[in-house]
Amino acid sequence: MEKLDPRGRKVKILATLGPASRDPDMLRRLFKAGADAFRVNMSHGDHATHAATIKAVRDLEKEFGRPIAILCDLQGPKLRVGTFKDSRAVIRHSGHFTLDRRDEPGDETRVFLPHPELFGLMQKGQRLLINDGKIRLRVIRADEDEILCSAEVGGVISDRKGVNVPDAEVPIPALTEKDRRDLAFAMSQGADWIGLSFVQRPEDLAEARKLMGGQGSLCAKIEKPSAVRRLDEILNLSDGVMVARGDLGVELEAYEVPPLQKDIVNRARLVGKPVIVATQMLESMIESPAPTRAEVSDVANAVYDGADAVMLSAETAAGEWPEEAVTMMHRIAKQVEEDDGYLARVRFLDTPPDPTTADALGHACMTIADTVPISAITVFTSSGSTARRVARERPSVPMMVLTPSMKTARRVALLWGAHPVATKDIGSFEEMIGKGKRMALRHGFGQAGGKLVVLAGVPFGTPGSTNLLHVVTLTGDELDRHRD
Ligand code: ATP
Ligand code: MG
Ligand code: MG
Repeated sequence: MEKLDPRGRKVKILATLGPASRDPDMLRRLFKAGADAFRVNMSHGDHATHAATIKAVRDLEKEFGRPIAILCDLQGPKLRVGTFKDSRAVIRHSGHFTLDRRDEPGDETRVFLPHPELFGLMQKGQRLLINDGKIRLRVIRADEDEILCSAEVGGVISDRKGVNVPDAEVPIPALTEKDRRDLAFAMSQGADWIGLSFVQRPEDLAEARKLMGGQGSLCAKIEKPSAVRRLDEILNLSDGVMVARGDLGVELEAYEVPPLQKDIVNRARLVGKPVIVATQMLESMIESPAPTRAEVSDVANAVYDGADAVMLSAETAAGEWPEEAVTMMHRIAKQVEEDDGYLARVRFLDTPPDPTTADALGHACMTIADTVPISAITVFTSSGSTARRVARERPSVPMMVLTPSMKTARRVALLWGAHPVATKDIGSFEEMIGKGKRMALRHGFGQAGGKLVVLAGVPFGTPGSTNLLHVVTLTGDELDRHRD
């Protein structure tokens, strides 16, 4: 088994897979460069391709012995244009462009819009925003067959780019027929996370949850103003959230997003659920080996905000520099986390513990790590809940998450500061301490003479029983005696 050092950073990197990255070789390179979790976007590609991609990730996991999270992102009721003769076309600034009902490849004058409901609905003066708002069209005339627009901002349009109509009320279901099929497929493939797009109401999550049948974790993508309004209820029903800035920045004004990003990150952190910041993080790296200064700052600021994970979209899915994009993100995150002011900034948000034993101990872990030199916090958990409560405190040292559940191990790969290790169940207190020490030495989280915090619950394997915190000293000979 090839050995991979600990990442040396707490924020996680989620990389979207696609034609540029899904072959096993490139996948391995992205993983080695720093991707901790992979996103499979159900909007693009077919099930057979996704199944092969998922299998390649699982093979990689075996190769390196490190659990990897797979997030299957459901398209949701996203409006998209059809395809183009040359896969792409250029819409001229101030020119005309038509969206129609003819199911034929488009060109620089027109494209098929496979959403009949929009034709009776759009009205003169309303906006159509394409590709996360990069192209801006305004309706001149709309009837049952055509929507004629003027291009206020033109640009390159390509196959199946998303369309937003912020001025019109489109009745949208939470899960389309395609989403239901994709969700069933994702569950059959053992997806660790499901990304639910365009969540508007808490009921949307309840519906998805029902279809998931107790498997997998649910990540609500926050990209609608209505989701922002009901964020606390949505957070309550989800296992994590994504700040999906692409659609959010189109549904709202782009300049409304930065304060919202901070607010969403904070509120997710308060309840101890992982939060991902997504979209256009290193966008120019789709075509260029180096990002812009502004993009570097954007990634850095998401890390300073205390997000659990930062995401790459087209950069790794369809870009020319997927490996460089992951490497860049890794370097930016490391640089921020090495800044002396980083932890203070992250902890600017006060996250007082709930009145539970688990939270009191989680809080104590953070305090101990700030007070005595320890190399890591070793958390034994079955559901991952203890790990989330510790991560919520944003401790200064890494957290090794030891769990008998492969599902839990994979799931926490998206959690701030967590290094998942799937391991056999433990039976006794002595066993737990022994294993905690051994694993720390083996995985590079401690050295002889150093100290370690071990957090667990007895009786073992009982969820919600976290009641035990032990500060142990590593002697160095723990490794030789056991071979588990
Ligand atoms: P979403 O709203 O879910 O983010 P998206 O279309 O923006 O949908 P991304 O995953 O953000 O999708 O990727 C950005 C772009 O990269 C896509 O618009 C598409 O052009 C390209 N892309 C991504 N994944 C694939 C894929 N599997 N096959 C083909 N192209 C892809
Ligand atoms: Mg989206
Ligand atoms: Mg996108």
